[in-house]
Amino acid sequence: MIPKEEIMGIFEKYNKDEVTIVTVGSHTSLHILKGAKLEGFSTAVITTKDRAIPYKRFGVADKFIYVDQFSDISKEEIQQQLRDMNAIIVPHGSFIAYCGLDNVEDTFKVPMFGNRAILRWEAERDLEGQLLGGSGLRIPKKYGGPDEIDGPVMVKFPGARGGRGYFPCSSVEEFWRKIGEFKAKGVLTEDDVSKAHIEEYVVGANYCIHYFYSPLKDQVELMGIDRRYESSIDGLVRVPAKDQLELNIDPSYVITGNFPVVIRESLLPQVFDMGDKLVAKAKEEVNPGMLGPFCLQSLCNDNLELVVFEMSARVDGGTNTFMNGSPYSCLYTGEPLSMGQRIAKEIKLALELNMIDKVIS
Ligand code: ATP
Repeated sequence: MIPKEEIMGIFEKYNKDEVTIVTVGSHTSLHILKGAKLEGFSTAVITTKDRAIPYKRFGVADKFIYVDQFSDISKEEIQQQLRDMNAIIVPHGSFIAYCGLDNVEDTFKVPMFGNRAILRWEAERDLEGQLLGGSGLRIPKKYGGPDEIDGPVMVKFPGARGGRGYFPCSSVEEFWRKIGEFKAKGVLTEDDVSKAHIEEYVVGANYCIHYFYSPLKDQVELMGIDRRYESSIDGLVRVPAKDQLELNIDPSYVITGNFPVVIRESLLPQVFDMGDKLVAKAKEEVNPGMLGPFCLQSLCNDNLELVVFEMSARVDGGTNTFMNGSPYSCLYTGEPLSMGQRIAKEIKLALELNMIDKVIS
């Protein structure tokens, strides 16, 4: 892990009046950059030439840093270019995937918003389980192996694959049959199969809850909620049941988009309690904890319990549902507020209070 002192040493050499907010052009970069501009920052986007169009058309980036391929973002010449523009990077899911988690932790020497040490805790299922379970949140029951399957389960595989190859099943026989089919289609490899993660299938409604923890105000804010629009499952449910059976199609859970949602108001105490508990536990486990945006992906069962099946320890893709503010984020200031602008406000306040060490790593 790059020592905090080294990052602070780099920041000390910056021109603090000319900070540029930078991210990779993908994932949630539109509202990250737009939010930064609204707070008066210069912005830059790292992109390949063929992916630059949205950032030009929407006018969210003041500068363009071109790379031949996204994996080049960790190269020393790019890092130097970033330091030269007094950059603070806002990491999102695609940034981490392209830069590589090992590079984010050990070689990417550019100040980054949030706690870079916590990113591994969302990437590794055991660490994620330790944090979510240790926070006292309700998580799906985990099965030791296929032989233990005694009811509906969800089978998942390692790596950020956006739900590809995941499947529900209810028996040991069904497990092996589906594994065989997915292997034949080339969706799964033998190595994936040995790493299958099997958990209770939660029947419920999907709520992906976006929080922001402000280290400066020591406060957990509810910023918005989305639900996922996944292929092929969300298309399959439009097929009548009798035809579904005839079609014999196995659903997949590939994320393709998101819908904004609100949750019934009586569940909000539970929602805030979950965010508060995770922040408290993260402080214990990965000091200084969960800084800035994070997301709990949950399913609400008919006992009105929110069961958390996944977490993002950085800005989550579902925040794109409220680039123009959400019903919740709007309640704080009365103004439309995106997650990107909330991040920029925290950086701005930290600069004003001379407390940037509280928000970067
Ligand atoms: P993401 O890119 O969203 O992080 P991922 O590959 O980590 O995707 P998950 O988010 O864990 O995948 O799961 C994909 C989808 O599978 C979920 O959005 C949800 O629809 C479904 N799902 C996951 N876990 C469960 C579960 N325990 N019970 C029922 N459905 C589930």
